[in-house]
Amino acid sequence: MEPADSIRRLGFARWYERRLIEGHAWFISGVACMIAIPACIEELSFRGSVARLLAYVVLVLVAGAIGIYGLVRYQRILSEAEHLGEQATCGACGAYARFRLISTSDVRCRRLAERVGFEPTKRY
Ligand SMILES: [Zn+2]
Repeated sequence: MEPADSIRRLGFARWYERRLIEGHAWFISGVACMIAIPACIEELSFRGSVARLLAYVVLVLVAGAIGIYGLVRYQRILSEAEHLGEQATCGACGAYARFRLISTSDVRCRRLAERVGFEPTKRY
């Protein structure tokens, strides 16, 4: 889903909060997988059954894939949130995250709208 759709639906502050929560959930998942990998490798031995060996190898590979994916998702989500967060401060009045999304590239400051009584012509 595009960030604009989510921001329009939730508002920027709530969207930003949810993105941080989602990003950190991916980070925790990635770290848990990175901890599971050496634990599984430690259990690997060639003395047990082949099925047990294969199960640990599959577990290590799956944990590695999920761990890498989780850490990449964490980095991308936080980069996107920080990039948009840097642009969320109104240049005219300095209000943070108090804007109404008009289109994907056009926003209106709600604080200025309250001060001067300006109402955008489009409503969402
Ligand atoms: Zn403003």
